[in-house]
Amino acid sequence: MPSSLVAIFPGSFDPPTNGHLDLIVRGARLVNHLIVAILQNTQKSALLTTGERAEMLKEISAHLPNVEIDFFDGLLVDYAVRRHADTILRGIRAVSDYETELQMALLNRRMRPEIETVFLMASAEYSFLSSRMVKEIITLGGDAGSFVPEAVMRRLQTKFPAANKR
Ligand code: ADP
Repeated sequence: MPSSLVAIFPGSFDPPTNGHLDLIVRGARLVNHLIVAILQNTQKSALLTTGERAEMLKEISAHLPNVEIDFFDGLLVDYAVRRHADTILRGIRAVSDYETELQMALLNRRMRPEIETVFLMASAEYSFLSSRMVKEIITLGGDAGSFVPEAVMRRLQTKFPAANKR
């Protein structure tokens, strides 16, 4: 067991949700240093720029001194090696997450056996929650206030004035 554990929590975070924050808080308790890494080469149609996502993540994790926000592109395991990380942290919500997560974890292990993927089960109250769902609500002008941290909602309202106005 290394004396200083460094974990990477990778994702799109478009936008960061209460589910992400829950995982960040719980993950930060388990390791010495937690790097929340925003994927830059995403193919998905993005709601926010990666810079905006980073600002939101910084604001909602400001109370956690061992959490850092960073960006990555290319292979996650290469980034993990560059950052001297031992562990990749991922969340599992439902059975549907399991298959893709298992595939990714096994591929990553094949490429870098020294890096371990660790899964945390989503908290029950967030197990239905995804960025994709929040993105849909925001683009359709709905109220996503109970799914994202207050600071995220404030920034979303500035960018999308139609959000939460009904
Ligand atoms: P990706 O685009 O890689 O799926 P996401 O930004 O959607 O990235 O999610 C990043 C990580 O956060 C993933 O491990 C995902 O399982 C986890 N996650 C997302 N939503 C939740 C939630 N509601 N509860 C717990 N973990 C979550």
